[in-house]
Amino acid sequence: MTLFAAATAGYVYLISLIIDAANGLDANAASGESVAQAKRYAAIVLPVILALTFTVGIGGYIQRILTNSIALNTVGKMQTQMLRAAQARDFADSQSEASGELIAKFTNDVSVVSAGLVRVLGNLVKDVLTVVFTIAAMLILNWQLSVFMVIFGLALWPIIEISKRMRGNAREVQEHIGRMTAELKESLGAAQLVKTYGLEEHEQARLDHSFSERIRLYLKLVTQQARVDPILEVVGGLVIAVVVIFGVWQYGTGAATGGKIASVLGGLLILAPRLRALGTLNNVIQESLSSVGRIFDVIDTQPTLEDAIITSDLDVTDGRLELINVNFTYPDGTAALNDFTLTAEAGQTTALVGPSGGGKSTVMHLIPRLYDVQDGAVIIDGQNVKEITQSSLRRHIAVVSQDAVLFNTSIAANIALGDLDADRDAIIHAAKAADAHGFITRLPGGYHTVLGEDGAGLSGGQKQRLSIARAILRDAPILLLDEATSALDTESESKVQAALTRLSEGRTTLVIAHRLETIRNADKICVVEGGRVVETGTDAELRKRGGVYAGLTR
Ligand code: ADP
Repeated sequence: MTLFAAATAGYVYLISLIIDAANGLDANAASGESVAQAKRYAAIVLPVILALTFTVGIGGYIQRILTNSIALNTVGKMQTQMLRAAQARDFADSQSEASGELIAKFTNDVSVVSAGLVRVLGNLVKDVLTVVFTIAAMLILNWQLSVFMVIFGLALWPIIEISKRMRGNAREVQEHIGRMTAELKESLGAAQLVKTYGLEEHEQARLDHSFSERIRLYLKLVTQQARVDPILEVVGGLVIAVVVIFGVWQYGTGAATGGKIASVLGGLLILAPRLRALGTLNNVIQESLSSVGRIFDVIDTQPTLEDAIITSDLDVTDGRLELINVNFTYPDGTAALNDFTLTAEAGQTTALVGPSGGGKSTVMHLIPRLYDVQDGAVIIDGQNVKEITQSSLRRHIAVVSQDAVLFNTSIAANIALGDLDADRDAIIHAAKAADAHGFITRLPGGYHTVLGEDGAGLSGGQKQRLSIARAILRDAPILLLDEATSALDTESESKVQAALTRLSEGRTTLVIAHRLETIRNADKICVVEGGRVVETGTDAELRKRGGVYAGLTR
């Protein structure tokens, strides 16, 4: 940058050199010495021009690569930190922000910051240096004319005013892009709903509205930004006019040579675009700062649910699971569990049944400590989950949820999410136990078949069996099952059921049952209603009692 700036300022000398040389040639033409003198000047001017342009060229090239690599590395680190913070934040926080909005921070805001950094590094250092060196050269050559540059100062005040407004506008644009990304993700992800309900027009209109809103907000921002250029242009013109007038006067009185006057004008022409770039640089800074703010909002989020200062790893001896007098209210104030007590005996299957909204899923959230209970305790083999490390707690738990979560990678990689160190044999063994090996090997790519988004291309039962294989591979002593409500056909239903039974053998299993016939054989059934356990017993006992459960079975 320094090379570039110094060489650019050198152009001012060059102009003075060339013009005075030409004048000298004119004066000497009469004496007949002009040819020899012309050769002497050519011998000086040519190497100077080449040296300056070469230095400016090389300096600019290196500077561009360096600033871009600094900017890219910086935002690359921001992305890494943002992802780490986003993964570490409380489950409640990840539920409350649309994932599309977060994605926009990884894509749009990061690009804004990267472009901003490139300009700040380039302009702030290179242009400021160029301006300083050029002004120095001008002052040395002809300070009387150069002092008129103070007129540029007139532009300062309006530019500061404009920048104040711009920051707010930039934030509006970025927030809107976040919302738009979330809407797009939601709408494009719901292709089935949109097509079957014929919502194409409706979605088009909704998103078109979002697109035009983006145009409106952007234009508002650009209108502010665009005011800077003309102000600098007019002020620049004023400076040049004054310099020309006084330059002619200086020349007339013989106070300066033509070359020195021309060098000030040349210097102004070099300065004008640099000053304009510095003036509009503020636009970029404001826009970037607003994106940086949004990025650091994510990075600075501290999880509230952290490991205690003194913790040990969970030590599972049998896998007995207890919830004791638990009170739990969601962060939005919804009370979900009220003095809830339950024991899941080691190695047995405990089923939770009851009306929707009773609190069954909440129990499943509390065991892996996705939320902290307000009162009471969640205990595993005598250890409170608040007092052990979260990583050890979760290592001992496998979850199979209603909707099988599958990534857009190979089947083998999807199963291996249960245990990232598992080898191929272990994966196949798990798939066999989940009754998935058969259909996997019938697929053209076998275990290497890459699934679509959300496992597109597989049936509901097949997806379920893959997620069961994943849980089998995890080989955790505690198993949390949320039975699929979506009616599977009878054949896949019985296969899934058989796989689940194999999976739960010898493990402490807590299952949310949506169909009573699947839990007849459960060791214990707890009826959950209104945030508490209202009945406990085996199927036969509860039927005989004639209470809530008996009512459900009727
Ligand atoms: P079930 O699984 O038995 O249908 P839930 O545990 O899902 O019941 O819900 C218990 C209560 O907690 C309900 O009133 C429900 O509206 C509320 N609830 C569930 N999840 C959340 C959440 N993420 N935020 C706020 N309230 C919730």
